[in-house]
Amino acid sequence: MPRPIHATIHTGALRHNLAQMRAAAPGARVWAIVKANAYGHGIERAFEGLRGADGFALLDLAEAQRVRDLGWRGPILLLEGVFEPRDLELCSRLNLWHAVHGDEQIDWLATHKTHQPHRVFLKLNSGMNRLGFAPERFRSAYARLQALPQVDEISLMTHFSDADGPKGIGAQWAVFQRATDGLAGERSLCNSAAALRHAQDAAVRGDWVRPGIAVYGSSPDFPEHDAAHWGLQPSMTLASKLIAVNALPAGASTGYGSIFTAEAPMRIGVVACGYADGYPRHAPTGTPVLVDGVRTRTLGRVSMDMIVVDLTPVPQAAPGSEVTLWGRAGSGAVLPIDEVAHAAGTVGYELMCALAPRVPVSVEE
Ligand SMILES: *Cc1c(COP(=O)(O)O)cnc(C)c1O
Repeated sequence: MPRPIHATIHTGALRHNLAQMRAAAPGARVWAIVKANAYGHGIERAFEGLRGADGFALLDLAEAQRVRDLGWRGPILLLEGVFEPRDLELCSRLNLWHAVHGDEQIDWLATHKTHQPHRVFLKLNSGMNRLGFAPERFRSAYARLQALPQVDEISLMTHFSDADGPKGIGAQWAVFQRATDGLAGERSLCNSAAALRHAQDAAVRGDWVRPGIAVYGSSPDFPEHDAAHWGLQPSMTLASKLIAVNALPAGASTGYGSIFTAEAPMRIGVVACGYADGYPRHAPTGTPVLVDGVRTRTLGRVSMDMIVVDLTPVPQAAPGSEVTLWGRAGSGAVLPIDEVAHAAGTVGYELMCALAPRVPVSVEE
């Protein structure tokens, strides 16, 4: 028998979450962000649930090829643009739209031989200070692109650093407005957090929104709002089973480093899941987990292949009992990935993306 750990991708949840993002940004077109192998879900496995999107956005040219191989003829956007001049040949061949965030990318376009002019998304650095043209250099970059026969349509994009938090988007939005005022072209500004929290304003919403994490059922502003607040459903379940049940006497410890010690006698379960499966090693004692759909907690240190859990709230648990590390239990109970991530001091994004290759994955409606 294979090791009992297993991940499930929920097609219906992806479809539902995409619809939620459409509803959050009425009238805008929606890129489904499928970078990082669809946030760990697998592009091929997520495709059925996301094919209702208006386009797919990602970073990696090999991933763009995979989306085309699935038969997708619609828009594909390279969010970081091309990395070297010959990437432009693939853009021509696969009809990829690409971000332009720096002068080198314009230089490369200027010498690129193509019969089909490209659609580009000119990126403004409005305050994230990562990629993009500074506001005072934005118009000259626009003019340079406009003069190139290799370019047909120019769209305008920027990315918010604080859409999920108290600082908000105000300052960056003002910079974007000033830098793009009067320039022709479609606009794209909003990631998941901005689409959910700030896209009531049609100008902020723009022509294209770019939700990633929300499409995968994780809240971009947890713990202020959880996924249920935004009407999002988990699109990934990580599940396993108990492979042993033991009594832990008072004063005894479990796991490496003996960092958890029982104060009173207790029953503990050993789960076939560890950091080599993508479960975060830094998840402390008390991280939530479901056993037979009942919420309990982890104990002690996460090992490579095993986690120990407290069976006090689940007296009927036995070897073979279902364990839900995140996502949906057989009973229908849900353990949001954001709660596990938060307990471990990280975000849902990282847990999804870290799902390990050794975990078998299936796709369900
Ligand atoms: C990853 C990414 C997004 C999606 O962000 P989420 O927080 O996952 O919604 C949007 N835009 C750009 C440029 C990105 O790199």
